[in-house]
Amino acid sequence: MIAHTPTLFACVALVATIMAFCLILVGQFNQRDGLLTIGFGLLAHALAYVGYTFYGHAPLWLTYGAANTLLAVALAFYGASLFQIIELPVAWWRVFAPAVLMLTLMASLIETLEPRMLAATGVLMVQCALIIYWTRRYIPAQGRARMLLIIGASISLIGLGMRVVAVLGGGAAEMRYDVSNLKQTISVSIGTFTAMMISLGLVLLSKERSESLLQQMALRDVLTGILNRRAILEQFSKDLERSRRENAYLAVAMVDIDHFKQINDVHGHLAGDEVICHCVNHLTERLRHCDSIGRYGGEEFLVLLPGTSPEGAVAVLDKLRASLAETPAQFGDASIPVRISIGVCCVMPEDGDTTASLLAWADAALYEAKGLGRNTLRLAQPCRLRSAAPLSDTPQTTEAS
Ligand code: GH3
Ligand code: MG
Ligand code: MG
Repeated sequence: MIAHTPTLFACVALVATIMAFCLILVGQFNQRDGLLTIGFGLLAHALAYVGYTFYGHAPLWLTYGAANTLLAVALAFYGASLFQIIELPVAWWRVFAPAVLMLTLMASLIETLEPRMLAATGVLMVQCALIIYWTRRYIPAQGRARMLLIIGASISLIGLGMRVVAVLGGGAAEMRYDVSNLKQTISVSIGTFTAMMISLGLVLLSKERSESLLQQMALRDVLTGILNRRAILEQFSKDLERSRRENAYLAVAMVDIDHFKQINDVHGHLAGDEVICHCVNHLTERLRHCDSIGRYGGEEFLVLLPGTSPEGAVAVLDKLRASLAETPAQFGDASIPVRISIGVCCVMPEDGDTTASLLAWADAALYEAKGLGRNTLRLAQPCRLRSAAPLSDTPQTTEAS
């Protein structure tokens, strides 16, 4: 089917205008989500297509030169919105450089036919390639938006490539915007299709971004960035089930900063916050990839060490305790010593074991560690293991230093 090319352009301009209007309307209320910039892109897209619609009926500098520059501006806005959505600084000069190049090329080549067509198509191809490059580089692989953006920009590249082949094959006259033929219908349709795909991909990207931020907020502790209480307990359930299935040890440690209230009272709450972060960083940097740490309460942390025997857990955690005791936190000019007490429960989970029962044992061991003078570790002997008690010949009960 051969469509009337100017009518096709006018239809695209209408649809793009409606989409631009909607995005600009809602985008102004939150300029950080990138919708406003996508809206400006669609508006430039619509205006470019209005220009193409009047090709042959108005001056060439307007219907070709200005229109192609506007299309390059549209793609630049799409690129800028991509950076805005993923909250990277927008390198405006890099994003808009192709549009400036397009303006320059159109100004100098407007009286020619093939050179101006090749130049315009070439610049647009570079812009589509840049969108693919930025998407692959900066957007996480699992997103659906990423797929739409890459497919949209790739199809656009193919459509533009077809124009280049047609022009180089001597068919430049056939590809003028006031001519209606099959090649032109296919080429304009591809352009339309991809413009919609790219803008939809960007809107979807904005949605995925806010969803992942919400998820981050729901699962992460605001101060330290580690798992919050809910998330570490979920991880605990998973680790427990897995250890039960695999008949493997699971070590659970309750870690509590000693005399933390005093730190707050003496140095202030900001210093207290710094001590919490210092402690978390110290532990996180030294744990294995498969271990987990979460903030269980104010200055209490839950550490999970899957596949670790009681002796191994005691050795690792006591080493962490000792090394932290030797590494004070810095707050302004103050050097604040940080000591922790640790209660550990380590089992090869059986049917009756639950997260609650293991936590209770780790907590009881922590309570004993506090009673022993703090800056120490106690290993619980869970109930089938009786009472919190040290393992013989292991360094689990270290006297306060
Ligand atoms: P112990 O040696 O027995 O563990 O005593 P402690 O002083 O460490 O523990 P206590 O429970 O008496 O006090 C903990 C304090 O931690 C009380 C609370 O105000 C403070 N806290 C809780 N969360 C935060 C936080 O995010 N930042 C700061 N700076 N303080 C916090
Ligand atoms: Mg404490
Ligand atoms: Mg506490």
